[in-house]
Amino acid sequence: MTKNRRRLKQVEAWLRLHHSPRSPVRVRVERFKEDHLGFCTEDDGGFLIRIRPCAPIHEQIETLLHEWAHAAKGCMNHGKRWGARHQRIYHHWFDGGGQDESRAL
Ligand SMILES: [Zn+2]
Repeated sequence: MTKNRRRLKQVEAWLRLHHSPRSPVRVRVERFKEDHLGFCTEDDGGFLIRIRPCAPIHEQIETLLHEWAHAAKGCMNHGKRWGARHQRIYHHWFDGGGQDESRAL
């Protein structure tokens, strides 16, 4: 496992611990054609998050936080519900000790 993949796994574990979604979420790091850093799609009663591997690790992490807010709320747009959840996750991550805490996971 690469250093970046390991770091992203820690972030995923941290999200599962503190921002647990109601439906199952899978995270895959893989190449795709579309010009995005990541995706969240509904998938078999849960959600599938795909992250572009070639982006710098801080972008992969921010993409995962962004997509996680979609999965956690089951909300595919960028409206109020997604915004509130994303803000909570983002704030916890950057200002609430999430970055350091996740390194121990
Ligand atoms: Zn989005």
